[in-house]
Amino acid sequence: MKRLCFATNNHNKLKEINAILGASFQIISLEEIGCSEELPETQATLEGNSKQKSRYVFEKYDTACFADDTGLEIEALEGEPGVFSARYAGPQRNNEDNIDLVLQNLKGKLNRKAQFRTVITLTTPINDYQFEGIVKGQIVTERIGEKGFGYDAVFMPEGHETTFGEMSAEEKNKISHRGRAIKKLVEFLSATKDY
Ligand code: IMP
Repeated sequence: MKRLCFATNNHNKLKEINAILGASFQIISLEEIGCSEELPETQATLEGNSKQKSRYVFEKYDTACFADDTGLEIEALEGEPGVFSARYAGPQRNNEDNIDLVLQNLKGKLNRKAQFRTVITLTTPINDYQFEGIVKGQIVTERIGEKGFGYDAVFMPEGHETTFGEMSAEEKNKISHRGRAIKKLVEFLSATKDY
């Protein structure tokens, strides 16, 4: 079975990808390759950060791997919070503070269009490959729903009348940015002989 490291410390993401990849790949965690350090994430774009994390693990631990980076991009805020989504309201990385700041910055604005965008970088001995997943929607005016995490309670995907915060994980994964990027990664992995 092919082994591939997912460069994340988020156990929910590991569970999610294992459920999708099933029996054909063995996804291993950073813990399992002996990596307990914080991965560098100092680039100005989602593409840059996911590649930085993936290459770091590949070069230091000599293992094929992939890493992801996600941002909420709000049209009326010129793409903010974007790459700063986790720490939009400050270094405390607090989801509630981040949502409060988004709602405050959108006060009085009619355009509430936004998208979640995920970039996954896969690093193999041959090359780096990137996969993008986007879900478009809008920012509602107050929190609705208590499921999910991050900005889920204020994001309503296009074609739906519920926020991500009201959806089950299964429902959300089917249409989410990360779900879409993972699907592209899985299609590539199923076809490649690169590692
Ligand atoms: P990460 O790159 O997956 O760690 O995501 C960065 C930040 O984007 C997170 O800390 C969240 O604030 C936000 N985010 C990422 N994915 C989601 C999601 O599926 N729902 C809501 N917020 C998200």
